Amino acid sequence: MREAFLQAVRRRALLADGAMGTQLIEAGLAQGESGDEWSLSQPERVRKIHAAYVAASSEVLVTNSFQASSLALARYGLSEKSYELNLRAARIARDCVGQAGFVLGDVGPFGGFLEPLGTTSRRDLEESFAIQVNGLLDGGADGIIIETMTSLEEIETAVAAIRRCRSGVPIVGSVTFDRVADGDFRTMTGVSVDDTVDFLVRLGTEVLGCNCGTGLHIGDYVQLVAAYRRLSDLPIMVQPNAGQPRLDRGHIVYDETPERMAGAIPGLIEAGASVVGGCCGTTPQHIALFRRQMEHVASASS
Ligand SMILES: [Zn+2]
Repeated sequence: MREAFLQAVRRRALLADGAMGTQLIEAGLAQGESGDEWSLSQPERVRKIHAAYVAASSEVLVTNSFQASSLALARYGLSEKSYELNLRAARIARDCVGQAGFVLGDVGPFGGFLEPLGTTSRRDLEESFAIQVNGLLDGGADGIIIETMTSLEEIETAVAAIRRCRSGVPIVGSVTFDRVADGDFRTMTGVSVDDTVDFLVRLGTEVLGCNCGTGLHIGDYVQLVAAYRRLSDLPIMVQPNAGQPRLDRGHIVYDETPERMAGAIPGLIEAGASVVGGCCGTTPQHIALFRRQMEHVASASS
């Protein structure tokens, strides 16, 4: 019988994949086009990205569904395709990673504000997430990652939707922090790391996560993971971005090289990371070098 995701996470450090969004752009996604829609219209391109990560030895794939909630798809006029896009996204990832690997269904921010700041009610958001999560789980996802979140209330709403869809689904709650000073991080709405971890633990997410920070370099993630670990024994998933994007002759570039990021992998694992992957700007080359570092850590500790 195949090992469950949470069992595997508790037993050893797992290597996830790198960015999807920046790889889609690399593969020709135009500005204003929905990358999530490619799971239907360009499945072979999505498959190729996942396959490159599997070839780089990723054992956890995150689905191509970052903006595939019906509310997020509304800006492309694709709301009614939410279930199908998520189903396809999960199936493509599963096909690529096989039964020995793991698929995390990706749930990203819906792209607006909840009432009273915005016009979206929690009920509508929960409904929207539930359609997405049903698609991801029906497509074979082992768990759900709620990621790049800056609003704790939005995470809470997503968790409610997941629990409503199916009980016992492992959830990774992954938050985006800004660096406000050396060793001090806040969410966009000013929430501290302590309060964030406390919130996630009370919410009952099985894995704590952080990803795609603003102004964060790889060393900051080591500090963040260590801070998480001081506050909780839960598994931690970390997906550092390759620095901040900048424009160079019309191209978006990220400055954190595979070598530089990979150099921090032993530190991340020592600090307590259980699942390591990459966010925006990371590539299969980053992931392949992460694996080499993880093997060094494993052989040094055995
Ligand atoms: Zn990112």
